[in-house]
Amino acid sequence: MFYVAVEGESTEPDYLTYLNREFGAEHQFLIHPLYKRNGMTPGRVVDRALEQRDEIAGDDARAQLWALFDRDQHRDIPKALRDARAGGVRIAFSNPSFDLWLLLHFTDVSGQQNGSSRVVHSKLRQQPGFETFGVRNDKSVAGSRAKALAGRSAAAVRRAKRLVDDCPNGACSAVAGHAAHCDPLRRDPSTDVWQLVIELGIAES
Ligand SMILES: [Zn+2]
Repeated sequence: MFYVAVEGESTEPDYLTYLNREFGAEHQFLIHPLYKRNGMTPGRVVDRALEQRDEIAGDDARAQLWALFDRDQHRDIPKALRDARAGGVRIAFSNPSFDLWLLLHFTDVSGQQNGSSRVVHSKLRQQPGFETFGVRNDKSVAGSRAKALAGRSAAAVRRAKRLVDDCPNGACSAVAGHAAHCDPLRRDPSTDVWQLVIELGIAES
């Protein structure tokens, strides 16, 4: 059982639902997406995961708690990261946003994004199924978009790991992770969502 608190109200919950449908039976997991209408800040995402931890209170020792959130223009990220670590919540941080993870299913991404998802979105709209992503605020990942992701998880993991190896910090690697002194805000671009995908058993590490 995976409890995954997320920032967005549509993109991430849709993606987690897709994972349940596509891989849940085969790899014997069930993800409970925890989200709110109109979304949550990184701080709220971590708080929500911690509330869930208190709710299950050791009922399921194998349950994993995760918090997924983005850099965007948020200011409370260092505190959210600290709170998550102290509370036993695993973090999948994306810089500039979760949508980078979707794009990595199709192509490599390089070059600093400076907290903006503009480039990521324009490249994502060049991919099959995602032509209208973000248009009129439609950032869902259902139907043809979910279908377009199928079969591309391993490639996305490989590309995301390469971004850790290429971290501007210079002391980071996919094998060892980001160095302790590597500032998350400067891991640009980067996303940790691949670690969740490996924990779920969908891709090999
Ligand atoms: Zn790093």
